[in-house]
Amino acid sequence: MPRYVYLDHAATTPVDPHVWEAMKPYCLNVFGNPSSLHLFGDRADEAVHQAKREILHLLGANQGKVVLTSGGTEANNLALKGVAHMYQQQGRHIVVSAIEHDSVLSACTALEKQGFTISYIPVDSQGKINLYKLEQMLTEHTILVSVMHANNEVGTLQPIDTIGQLIKAKRLKQGTKTPFFHCDAVQTLGKIPFQVEEWGVDLLSFSAHKFYGPKGVGGLYVQRGVRLSPLLHGGGQEYGWRSGTQNVPGLIGTAYALKQSHERQPEDWNRYVKLNTTIREGLQALPGIQLTVPASLALPTHIHFLCQQIEGQALMQELSKKGIAVSTSSACHAHYWAPSHVMLAMGYNDEQAKQAVRISLGRGVTSEDIHYFLQQIKEIIRTFRSSHALS
Ligand code: PLP
Repeated sequence: MPRYVYLDHAATTPVDPHVWEAMKPYCLNVFGNPSSLHLFGDRADEAVHQAKREILHLLGANQGKVVLTSGGTEANNLALKGVAHMYQQQGRHIVVSAIEHDSVLSACTALEKQGFTISYIPVDSQGKINLYKLEQMLTEHTILVSVMHANNEVGTLQPIDTIGQLIKAKRLKQGTKTPFFHCDAVQTLGKIPFQVEEWGVDLLSFSAHKFYGPKGVGGLYVQRGVRLSPLLHGGGQEYGWRSGTQNVPGLIGTAYALKQSHERQPEDWNRYVKLNTTIREGLQALPGIQLTVPASLALPTHIHFLCQQIEGQALMQELSKKGIAVSTSSACHAHYWAPSHVMLAMGYNDEQAKQAVRISLGRGVTSEDIHYFLQQIKEIIRTFRSSHALS
């Protein structure tokens, strides 16, 4: 039997069997349309409300709304375009970090074409944003700041609570409603306990398939008092912000998966820290490996490294032949190659960006898997170096 080792959980996770069981009745029995005004509709509608209450509670929110979306990409687009179009009378300036996910950066490009001005916060060589620069970029015309909680490629965590307080202080000083603070938490929700209200986050994107829920489901948390211009027009579901019949089983699965992740969080976190240490020590013992972000600054699920003189794509393919799945950059990018904007923003050149590999841990990974991975990568690098006569 060949051995399969999946080390690409930042791209996606499998649906947990308990999540699947929780969703099933909402596919088969409680199948009503939540907008229908009869008992079948009422039952579905009650399930939607209950699931959203649970999600709000797990986000650390007493108030506010959860808008159901088709995932992180839509949630990010709704946050950026929804705020931009709703608050453009107040200003047409948006601040985002240079290493945001493409769904944020591409939404910004679209807004730039409509006359909005976007400022990009630089990061250091480890992917940390420059808080001083962020503060300097804020003007009375800034309506939104968007900074991701953890970067999907390199895993670097940002000080979300500090940013939230900084933006709140700016609003207070100006006596204005804006700027709002949006956080893309697609890589962190389910891995870290959340306190959105305490942290001062006004809008927060998440995606269920990153925490053992179904694909194609996610949401946007919206703090009380924030209004949005819709992306989709129609029947007026989801507070008029996202028309279309709700994906009830998907929402049930999201709430269940989040609750389960929350309960398992301390135990999972400790296990990832141990596995992460083993991988880092193992990789550091190999010739020509450079870890980009230290463990102390990143999610314990992420290990990002360069292998000098070997392209990440080639390394990934060789590992794949051995049954091991890793990634070269964001999964959404995996079918074409362009130097990662994250690596470039961190000061690496095109060649180094080509050498990047990401390992991302998840629940099913064992220490035997890591042992096997380290053995295989060592052998692959040795073969590469001898066949290419590289030093
Ligand atoms: N934001 C981040 C940080 C991500 O990592 C991803 C997906 O990899 C997304 C947004 C997009 O999420 P989705 O796949 O649910 O559209």
